Amino acid sequence: MTRDRATKRHTRKEASVPPRKAAAPPRPDPATLDIVIWPDPVLTRPAEEVGTIDSWLLQVVERMKQLMESHEGVGLAAPQVGLPLRLFVMAEKAKADQAVTVINPVLELDSHTEAAEEGCLSLPGIRGQVIRAKSVTLTGYDLKGDPISMPLEGFPARIAQHENDHLDGVLILSRMPPSARIALGKKLRELRTRS
Ligand SMILES: [Zn+2]
Repeated sequence: MTRDRATKRHTRKEASVPPRKAAAPPRPDPATLDIVIWPDPVLTRPAEEVGTIDSWLLQVVERMKQLMESHEGVGLAAPQVGLPLRLFVMAEKAKADQAVTVINPVLELDSHTEAAEEGCLSLPGIRGQVIRAKSVTLTGYDLKGDPISMPLEGFPARIAQHENDHLDGVLILSRMPPSARIALGKKLRELRTRS
């Protein structure tokens, strides 16, 4: 994601709570939510902004934190549990009780970049080098609906960029060089056929 695209797609106005009206997404029982695996289409569609923080959403977030920890992930975005909503949880030590929840996040990217290996809970067995901004400013809303702003550097900045990508329907596959995607062909075919 370029800086231009990031600012164009997520202005402060768009990120306000409550946002524009949209068709109400489904509200499944949070206890039934589980990790969604590629190529499920929910993973490659842009998500809708969160309009209301209610008890259902709080339960969804709790479930997401549990799933993140039990799968040893450092972050999980709502589309990864099948919900097309702009929110994610992240915890660099994969601990649910240390997780930060960000609703309707907006990222401002620093221009300095670095490459590092990433994996994704929705792409089991797939890892690859992804270039990301070294530091970002992450803004959004917490679970009380209060605005938050966090400068992040290094690994937490990378997690925030990875999770925010999920809200735009962008996976690490499209951030890898074409040669890396070709090398992953067999593993990707296996994921396609298991679904
Ligand atoms: Zn991911």
